Amino acid sequence: MTEDELIALDKQHCWHPFTVQQEWCAEQFRPIILESGSGVWLQDTAGQRYLDLNSSIWTNIHGHAHPYINAALQNQMQQLAHSSFLGYSNVPAIKLAAKLVSYFAPNTLSRVFFSDDGSTAVECALRMCLQYWQQSGQPERNVFVAFDNCYHGDTLGAAGLGGVSTFFKRLKSWGFECVHVKDLQELRTLEASVCQRVAALVIEPVVQGVNQMHVWSKDTLPQIDAWAKAAGCKLIYDEVMSGFGRSGYMFGCLESGVLPDFLCLAKGLSGGYLPLAATLCREEIYAAFLGKREELKTFFYGHSFTANPLGCSAALANLELFEIQNTLQNVQQRAAQLAGGIELLRRRYAELIVDWRQLGLIGGLQLCSSEQSGANGRAMCELLMQQGLATRPVMDTIVIMPPLCISAAEMQFVLQGLEQALEAFARQS
Ligand SMILES: *Cc1c(COP(=O)(O)O)cnc(C)c1O
Repeated sequence: MTEDELIALDKQHCWHPFTVQQEWCAEQFRPIILESGSGVWLQDTAGQRYLDLNSSIWTNIHGHAHPYINAALQNQMQQLAHSSFLGYSNVPAIKLAAKLVSYFAPNTLSRVFFSDDGSTAVECALRMCLQYWQQSGQPERNVFVAFDNCYHGDTLGAAGLGGVSTFFKRLKSWGFECVHVKDLQELRTLEASVCQRVAALVIEPVVQGVNQMHVWSKDTLPQIDAWAKAAGCKLIYDEVMSGFGRSGYMFGCLESGVLPDFLCLAKGLSGGYLPLAATLCREEIYAAFLGKREELKTFFYGHSFTANPLGCSAALANLELFEIQNTLQNVQQRAAQLAGGIELLRRRYAELIVDWRQLGLIGGLQLCSSEQSGANGRAMCELLMQQGLATRPVMDTIVIMPPLCISAAEMQFVLQGLEQALEAFARQS
């Protein structure tokens, strides 16, 4: 099929996420169709190469078509592509559960429940938490507390927590009760009558990605933990984006040492290869679900592809590569290189760049806003595309989140492309 034919069929039959379809399908718009990838690079059907500067929507870890992960998948594919985790177990899932638990102190996060996406990882935590309280003599605890501008996914339950009004306003009355707070200060003003009904506080513990890469201050988690203990509620951390080395730590929460009752993981879990998610919880939570069949304490939840063997074998290979390739050290070095380069650009383009937020290889470059907020972000990303840098804006913040395997030379390519694009942007505006 020619590229023109593919584009015509896409416009005729595909429906893209979070997309203004009317613009996408307009005659003059030519969508990019990606065909192959290698390391940090993506290639489209026209043969153009782009550096994957948002890690394929925040998922990719060690690059595309990594020979080690490919080999693990090929090997697993010869054995078994899928089987049911309901009624059976499978080899890669068992190994992966044990490996995930090993990152945390003994007797903390010791149980793993698999699902498919970040949203379902969060959904599981919510459902487990509600049922936990029902089975622990406090069924009135059925309210969740979340932060303004938080993002926890798009299934109805996860979206019920969502704090970004453009996305979630219309869902407000669906599902469960969720109280949103602006910050820690507002959290502390919650009335005792509310606190007594809180099932859990849900937080992206180190950085709120969709909130234009808002980085929490270092003392946030200890304070959150103290509040939750006082309120008697549980803590759910959503490290769907920040997990697996991106923050500079294997998991962002390991820096503070304040562990939650539930930890939600997805995106980078399989190295960004396949949809796979995990909800980790404490043994105390799990214990509340033990009982005789007729007591109906079972967690009645699951998906057809729960603990998919291919996804789990990609995840195991992904985790092994962290050790083989010394990935966290590369993150440190490339993060420092990025910070230094951005510092120079901020000085040169002080009127254009309003702010820079960074944690490890999670970066948000906030540009000045026009009246039509978001327009500058989109314009800048088009200029970056011309420099061979593929990323997306969140409003007027440019996401700078390359795969963790990025080399020094490739990071230099990013910084040079950014400079060229900023120069062109300055000339335009
Ligand atoms: C992407 C994301 C989700 C949702 O994950 P999906 O795999 O897209 O369902 C949830 N929480 C955070 C913090 C995310 O970045």
